[in-house]
Amino acid sequence: MIIVMRSGCTDQEIEGVRRQVEARAGLTTHLSRGVERTIIGVIGRIYPELQSELELLGGVTEVIRVSKPYKLASRDFHPDDTLIRVGNTTIGGKELTVMAGPCSVETEQQVLATAHAVKEAGAAILRGGAFKPRSSPYTFRGLGVQGLRLLAKAREETGLPIVTEVMTPEDVDVVASYADILQVGARNIQNFNLLDAVARISKPVLLKRGFATTYEELLLAAEYVMAGGNHQVILCERGIRTFEQFVRNTMDLAAIPVLKRLSHLPVIADPSHGTGKWYLVQPMAMASVAAGAHGLIIEVHPNPDQALSDGAQSLTFENFQKLMDNVRAVHAAIEQVNPAPKSQMPLKTS
Ligand code: PEP
Ligand code: MN
Repeated sequence: MIIVMRSGCTDQEIEGVRRQVEARAGLTTHLSRGVERTIIGVIGRIYPELQSELELLGGVTEVIRVSKPYKLASRDFHPDDTLIRVGNTTIGGKELTVMAGPCSVETEQQVLATAHAVKEAGAAILRGGAFKPRSSPYTFRGLGVQGLRLLAKAREETGLPIVTEVMTPEDVDVVASYADILQVGARNIQNFNLLDAVARISKPVLLKRGFATTYEELLLAAEYVMAGGNHQVILCERGIRTFEQFVRNTMDLAAIPVLKRLSHLPVIADPSHGTGKWYLVQPMAMASVAAGAHGLIIEVHPNPDQALSDGAQSLTFENFQKLMDNVRAVHAAIEQVNPAPKSQMPLKTS
């Protein structure tokens, strides 16, 4: 349920409404002060008379039932875009934030060379996996904590913040002690214990859509993290499994505008895992930016043919530079147009 406050309402009225709601058993509130309106989200056990009770409170314009199962992640609760500041970049606003680096951290030389190259090309964040979820137990599963140390060294040398995956609740503290953004991978997006664990840290969390995860399930994963107290959540479309076998996954480009419409959280795209082929990464990166992605996450390797994981989808330094030139051009072009068409139907919140 959301309470829309009268424009120009006072802080006392807002506080008064929050206090009155929270005095009722099992209810909590979430305040969102937007540019145009102030909204108080009500979370918890909603009983039938609540709506009419809340409509009587001072400063309240309207009380609307939200039937979506996710609340804090919903745009109804928070009409303005969420902005997440990491290092020198802001994710979720007008900037295009590119995260790039190897699939896996392999050696010091490999990660340092890649960090310098992606920085040079304009990436704002270094990616690299130290704990790797692999389909086969016989493949390279990452350097673990040693990989985190190498990422930290690359950050020291380049100033780039780092994003890296965490696979288990037990590893959250150690990964959070090195990473600037914690990634929950596609295979773990409904690992609810892991979502609870990353909810307890105070660093941003990047949630990757699973191969068979609906928009609603992805937003419910975000809801877990937010309900646990961490509102710094970034969503990532990285392709889903379909009948098509040529590509590793099918990039669902519509996910980008849909998630931006349903939620206020930043939405980025991963055309590396989304396609599985290096020559498809640039076109799908450009398409993702044209579709409104706030950022990209791209795999880059000094020698893709020798990579210990995901070489086939990794870009050389030279091709990453070309990708950056092209996505920047697309980003500049879409700045010139208004990507949001005017509403054609009355918007319903439920
Ligand atoms: C990754 O980013 O390295 C990764 C394993 O991605 P995903 O979880 O999307 O497969
Ligand atoms: Mn990978």
